[in-house]
Amino acid sequence: MQFLNIANEGVKSLAPYQAGKPIEELERELGISNIIKLASNENPFDFPESAKQAIMNQLDDLTRYPDANGFELKVAISKKFGLNANQITLGNGSNDLLELFAHTFASDKDEIIYSQYAFIVYPLVTKAINAVAREIPAKNWGHDLEAFLAAINEKTKLIFIANPNNPTGNFLTEAEIDAFLAKVPSHILVVLDEAYTEFTAKEERVDSFGLSNKYPNLIVSRSLSKAYGLAGLRIGYAVSNAEIADLLNRVRQPFNCNSLALASAIAVMNDDEFVKKVAKNNRLEMARYEAFCQANGLEYIPSKGNFITINFKRPAAAIYDALLREGVIVRPIAGYGMPNHLRISIGLPAENDRFFGALLKVLG
Ligand SMILES: *Cc1c(COP(=O)(O)O)cnc(C)c1O
Repeated sequence: MQFLNIANEGVKSLAPYQAGKPIEELERELGISNIIKLASNENPFDFPESAKQAIMNQLDDLTRYPDANGFELKVAISKKFGLNANQITLGNGSNDLLELFAHTFASDKDEIIYSQYAFIVYPLVTKAINAVAREIPAKNWGHDLEAFLAAINEKTKLIFIANPNNPTGNFLTEAEIDAFLAKVPSHILVVLDEAYTEFTAKEERVDSFGLSNKYPNLIVSRSLSKAYGLAGLRIGYAVSNAEIADLLNRVRQPFNCNSLALASAIAVMNDDEFVKKVAKNNRLEMARYEAFCQANGLEYIPSKGNFITINFKRPAAAIYDALLREGVIVRPIAGYGMPNHLRISIGLPAENDRFFGALLKVLG
């Protein structure tokens, strides 16, 4: 039986998502320990105490289903940002939300626009629903919004923008996004994926929730996997016009967010100290990465995220492998069409020192 033949048309061209290599896997393969992972843009600090406490308090209730509406978390989010709870949709990680946007609004033959080198989940969800992918060539590794506008036609349903973008770290200013939204027809939905927004300096950060009041076709998605440190629990949220949120909540799996994730998210949403500490480490250590690259003649893409992408000007697979043998896991991004680059997640100071030393050794 050729099950490939009976798969949905779009699924036939899908390749499985390539995740960062788990530490345990490299331990098994090489029989070494003391491995560091700078591969998945994870939070380098210990799991936040506030979330640990929330989990402990929740353990005895795990025989029950979670609150299908995530009422308390929506209240926490709406209080923090001055929103209405009916504008919020919760997801099992923001990846769940990205898929939900496509499922809710697009189908076969609709067109979805996103950028070359943008987050790989956009092509993945586009193909999974057999929609038509309009991948726009990047400009300096980032989104070319003028070209996005030129690609819009009567079939366009959805536009994905990652800001900052992963894996390149490119950033669009509020003025650029505002000017773009002003030109997009109001029946076309624009998703602004802000998984890394907490790493951007406050004064540069896009007031995306403000923009969503001005442009009802804007959907903002946020993640608690990065700055908030909950990657293993899977939780994210979307902010949109209430009518859009209502539609998303009809399609969403009723119990897509588990009780531990909901409880932890409420705790870290109110844990400003933790997020401040994380952002500060990222700011200081990003400066060290830039200085390291400059001192060693390495070209990098300036990044507003918690990762930096280095261009080795030759296929980087051998460098990646050699780093593995040094016990350092980074991320190859050949799957993004960037075979000469490696993406490194910013770690704690000691981890970054390990990476600097290992890379210099590997490069000879
Ligand atoms: C990491 C990331 C996400 C968030 O993923 P989660 O599902 O929330 O863990 C979303 N968008 C981009 C661009 C990312 O890099």
